[in-house]
Amino acid sequence: MIQQIAFAVTLGLGIFLFVRSARQLIRNIRLGRHEAINGQRARRWREVVRVALGQSKMFVRPIPAFFHLIIYAGFLIINTEILEILIDGLAGTHRVFSYFFPESLYGFIIAVYEVLALGTIVAAAVFLIRRHVLRLPRFTGSDLDGWPRRDAALILLIEIALMVFFLTMNGADRLLQQRGHYPEAGWFPVSSWLVSPLMEGWSTAGLLVAERAGWWLHIVGVLAFLNYLIWSKHLHIILSFPNVYYSRLEPQGEMTAMPQVTREVQLMLNPNAEAPAANGGSFGAKDVFDLSWKQLLDAYSCTECGRCTSVCPASLTGKKLSPRLIMMKTRDRMEEIGRYQDRQLPWYRLPSLQPLREAPPDSPPLLGGYITEEELWACTTCNACVQECPVNINPLAIIADLRRALVMEEARMPAELTQMSSNLENNGAPWQMGQQDRLNWAEDLIVPTMAEMAARGEVPEVLFWVGCSGSFDERNKKVTRALAGLLSAAGISYAVLGTEENCTGDPARRAGNEFVFQMLALQNIQLLNGYGIKKIVTACPHCFNTLRNEYPQLGGQYEVIHHSELLQQLLLEGRLRIREEHPWQGRSVAYHDSCYLGRGNGVYEAPRQVLEQLRMELKELKRCRQNGLCCGAGGAQMFKEEERGTHRINRERADELLQARTEAVAVACPFCMTMLDDGLRQKAENGLPPLRDVAEYLADAVAQPQ
Ligand code: SF4
Ligand code: SF4
Repeated sequence: MIQQIAFAVTLGLGIFLFVRSARQLIRNIRLGRHEAINGQRARRWREVVRVALGQSKMFVRPIPAFFHLIIYAGFLIINTEILEILIDGLAGTHRVFSYFFPESLYGFIIAVYEVLALGTIVAAAVFLIRRHVLRLPRFTGSDLDGWPRRDAALILLIEIALMVFFLTMNGADRLLQQRGHYPEAGWFPVSSWLVSPLMEGWSTAGLLVAERAGWWLHIVGVLAFLNYLIWSKHLHIILSFPNVYYSRLEPQGEMTAMPQVTREVQLMLNPNAEAPAANGGSFGAKDVFDLSWKQLLDAYSCTECGRCTSVCPASLTGKKLSPRLIMMKTRDRMEEIGRYQDRQLPWYRLPSLQPLREAPPDSPPLLGGYITEEELWACTTCNACVQECPVNINPLAIIADLRRALVMEEARMPAELTQMSSNLENNGAPWQMGQQDRLNWAEDLIVPTMAEMAARGEVPEVLFWVGCSGSFDERNKKVTRALAGLLSAAGISYAVLGTEENCTGDPARRAGNEFVFQMLALQNIQLLNGYGIKKIVTACPHCFNTLRNEYPQLGGQYEVIHHSELLQQLLLEGRLRIREEHPWQGRSVAYHDSCYLGRGNGVYEAPRQVLEQLRMELKELKRCRQNGLCCGAGGAQMFKEEERGTHRINRERADELLQARTEAVAVACPFCMTMLDDGLRQKAENGLPPLRDVAEYLADAVAQPQ
C-alpha cells in the first residue's frame, strides 16, 4: 500500500508539472499573432504521413535515418508499456496485462519492447559517437555552444538510461519468475541474454531490489523525461506532427502577402481609388509578438539538427547567418518572455493560455537584439533551409519578416539597397537605367510590342516578359535575343511590353521593401490586365516566380511559364527542330539549378530535357536539383555587397562547376548567369568552359524554318 501511495503521489506531481509546462508552452506559442491556416485537409494529412510519420526527408541520408527511426519507434512503442506500469503502480498488481492477453501475444509484445530497447541503446550510442567522437561539422558549429550541445547529449544519455532500467527490470523479473516469486509472463530475448546472466547468483531479495529499482527508475525517469522534453529540442517528437500539418503548401518561392500595405499603395497610386480597408498590423516583425503563432511553433519544433545550416550558402561561406540559430534565438526570446510572465505567478498556479503582450523591461528584442542585421542581410532567400528541414520548418519566413520590419519600420538597409529602391521607384529598374532603353536589346530585330499589336487590334499568343537583366545587362541581352529568335523560329505569335515594362518588384520584396514591390506590381498588373494578357513566358526565374505566385495576391492572374518549359514543349511538338549537326552535340555539360526555378517552383526537368534534346552529355553536379547550391544572387544580394565571410558564394559554386570538368556549363536564369560568369572568371583566367543559357545552346542548334 505504501508503494501505491508513493506511486500515486509521484504520478500526480509528474502530471501536474507536465500540464503546467504544457500550458506555458502553449501560452508562449500564443505570444505570436493570429494566422488563419486551414483548408486542404487531405493534402495536409498526406504531408503528416509522409514527412512526420514516414520521415521522408530524413531518408535522404539513409543510415542516420535508420538509427533515428529506431529511437523514434522505441520512444513511441515502448511508451505504450507505460500504461501497464501505471495500472500496476496504482493497483498494486504485477504485469496486469498478462492476465488479459493470450500468453503468446503478451510474450510477443514484451519481446518487441526488448528488441526496440536494445536498438534504442545502440542508436543513441551511435548518435553520441557522431556528435562527440566523429564530430560531424553540423554538430560542432558555434551556434550549438553551451546548453544546446549539453541538451542533445543529455537526451541521448537519458534514453540509454531509461532503456537500461527497463532491461534491468525485465532481467531480474525473469529470474524471479523462474524462482516462482512472480507468475510466468513475457518473453525476454534481450534481457535474458544480456542482464539475467549477471544476476544469476543473486538472492531473491537482491533480485527483488533490482526489479523494483528498475521499475521505479524507469517510470520516474519517464515522468521526468516528459517534463524535461517540453523544454528541450526533443519536443519535436511531439510537435513535428502539428508543425507539419500546418506547414505552408504554397510554392516555396512565394512570399506571404501583406494586405496592410496594399491600401496605402493603392491610395498612393490613385488618391481617388476605392481601396479596401486595411486590416492593421505591423510592417514585418520586430519581436516575437509580430511573428505568427505558426512561426513560433516552428521555433519550438526545431530539432537543432543543423541540416538547414549545413546547406545554407551564407553559412557555408562563413557568413554570420545560421538558419538553425535563427530558430533557436526565436525560441530563446519566446522563453525569456514566458519566464518573465511566469515569475508573476506562484509555482503551483497554472498559467493562463492568454499571454500578455509584455516583455521584460529593457530586454533585447528579437530584431537587433537576438538577431542582428548582419545575419538578416546575408540570406539569399534560396530556400535550401526550408527544403532540407525534416519537419518542414521555414527559417526564411522569419528572416523575411524581420527584414520587412528593418526596412519599413526602421528604415535600415544597406546603402546599395537604398539606391536600388530609389532606382526602382524612379526608373522601374534596379539600376540607373532609363525606361526608354528597355528595348535596346532588339535594335536590329523585328520584335512586336504590345502597344503596336493592340493598336492593330491583335492579341499575341504569349507575352514575352523580358525582365530587367534581360533588357539592360549586356550578357543577358544576348539570351533575350536568342529566345526572341527561337520564338520566331517556332512561329509563336508573341509581343513584349518594351518601354512599358517595369521591374516585377522581386528584389524590392526580398529586400523587405513591400511598398516598392506592391507599387511596381500594381502598376504592372494594371498594364497586363489592360492588354488582356493571359499567358506570359519569361527567361528570368525571379520574374517567373513573382508573376506566377505573387501577382495573384494582388489580382494578377496569368498562366506563366519559364522559357525552358516552353522550349521543351516546342521541341516535343516539333515546332522547333534540331539540326543533324550542331556545335554542341556530344559535349558534356553541367547544368546549374536556379533556386527560384527549382526549389522555388519545382522546375527541374525542363532545362535538362532541352540539353538532352541537344544530344549534350548532361553531368549532374554534386549539389543539384533540390540540393542545388545558390549562385548568391537571390534575395536582392545581386544588388549589394555580400556580408562578411570567408569567401563569396559564387566562387564556391564556380569551384564545383570546375570540378565537374565538363566542356560547357548551362544556366536558365540571368542572375545565375551574372554570378557564375563572375565566379568562373575569378577562378581561372584561361580554359574556362563556355557558360550559356539553355536558350543560347538551343539557338545555335535549331534548324531555321523552311
Ligand atoms: S534561405 Fe538560403 S541563404 Fe537564407 S537562411 Fe535559408 S539556406 Fe540560408
Ligand atoms: S530548422 Fe529544421 S533543419 Fe534546421 S535545425 Fe531546426 S529542425 Fe533541423
